[in-house]
Amino acid sequence: MTSNSRVVVLGAGLAGVRLARRLGELGVPALLVGDEEHRPYNRVLLAEVLAGRYSPDVIALPAPAGLVRAKVTGIDSDRRVLSCADGSEIAYGTLVLATGSNPVLPPLRGLFTPDHVLPEGVHAFRTMDDCLGLSKAVRPGVRAVVIGGGLLGVSAARALAVRGAQVVLAQQAERLMERQLDPNASRLVLRHLKDLGVEVHTECRVRDVRCLGGAVRSVEMADGYALDADLVVLACGVSPRAGLAKAAGIAVHKGVLVDDALRTSDPRIRAIGDCAQHDGTVYGLAAPALEQADVLAASLAGDPDARYTGTRALTRLTLAGNSAFDLAAFDLAAFGETEPRPGDDVVQLADATRGTYRKVVVRDDRLVGGVLVGELGTVGALARAWEGAEPLPSDGGPLLHLLTNDGGT
Ligand SMILES: Cc1cc2nc3c(=O)[nH]c(=O)nc-3n(C[C@H](O)[C@H](O)[C@H](O)COP(=O)(O)OP(=O)(O)OC[C@H]3O[C@@H](n4cnc5c(N)ncnc54)[C@H](O)[C@@H]3O)c2cc1C
Repeated sequence: MTSNSRVVVLGAGLAGVRLARRLGELGVPALLVGDEEHRPYNRVLLAEVLAGRYSPDVIALPAPAGLVRAKVTGIDSDRRVLSCADGSEIAYGTLVLATGSNPVLPPLRGLFTPDHVLPEGVHAFRTMDDCLGLSKAVRPGVRAVVIGGGLLGVSAARALAVRGAQVVLAQQAERLMERQLDPNASRLVLRHLKDLGVEVHTECRVRDVRCLGGAVRSVEMADGYALDADLVVLACGVSPRAGLAKAAGIAVHKGVLVDDALRTSDPRIRAIGDCAQHDGTVYGLAAPALEQADVLAASLAGDPDARYTGTRALTRLTLAGNSAFDLAAFDLAAFGETEPRPGDDVVQLADATRGTYRKVVVRDDRLVGGVLVGELGTVGALARAWEGAEPLPSDGGPLLHLLTNDGGT
């Protein structure tokens, strides 16, 4: 294959690896370019590596044949060439951007050293390197502050607590995972973390990271309260890694703008995964990234009907049980709108002893959202009803199943 018709996939994360594999299966050779030192891995499972439950090998993805390790620093779309940090160039016929996200670094005083490096002891939580760095630093009794109480912060706090750290989680919003969960489900997540010994502060804004000799010593809140810290984890969200595209003149809003064929404003360049923005949405989740990769593989293999029309993404969080804390596994799924609007029907079941909670929101005979904690037997049926947006059968269908599945009437 000449370099002129070659497909080059930039980014060897979940989306890029899936695309390269699918293209291989469809007989379209592709060159996959990634800058991480490690074998491609499933990022979603990094918290389990940090918790010591899995070794890095366990979360490795099957490595595609044509993988090149290089950091791409520029796209010359006229010459159709990528320039790399080591001075080399890679020619493409079609380029796919699968560059993922960057962690959002909050504007805290003291966070950046003059050479733009995070102080010693302060870690983002995005890559295998972040995870191994944290893993090396965590020991029983270490004082860790996790900044951010979304999915990432909750996963990191739990993993560090399981490793014996004294963990404080500082959440700016009034409750945990407020974007995905309703207040009852948030409370169950809070209870799970507290059972692990995590101290959770909500409505708490961190304003300063204090360092001594280049290493973090404490974290200061907006109200002046200071927490001693040997380790700080920044879990304040992510933003699409779209800088290369922007510099090359490709249309970028929050992410790289793509149409239903996952084509950017440059017809030779496509984008998928966390870096892409489709129909106003940047998903930042694994399932849409994989779905986009599958659609794009079909499209690049010549299927004229391959179209991406959006993903109704389900949030799943599985926190494995821990015998040291006498804790059962904690499993959670949330989708769509978990808070009803006036006029919506809500079916809700809670069992405080078992820590289970299930709720669905129905609008005009259609399931518009739900949250399940602890008892996920019905999640598949509910997710399908939600994804399909079909009217619910008048006999109650999946809702009845939800009510009767484990006798929870
Ligand atoms: C700890 C953690 C837990 C998560 N848990 C969940 C979860 O439970 N459920 C869920 O749905 N999602 C979860 N996510 C989000 C999920 O991992 C992402 O949505 C998914 O990885 C997106 O895939 P991607 O291929 O677009 O990006 P990534 O997996 O981030 O891959 C992008 C790759 O491109 C490389 N790259 C970028 N720029 C360049 C360059 N210039 N040169 C070379 N290489 C480059 C990056 O180094 C990276 O390897 C989690 C994320 C983290 C960090």
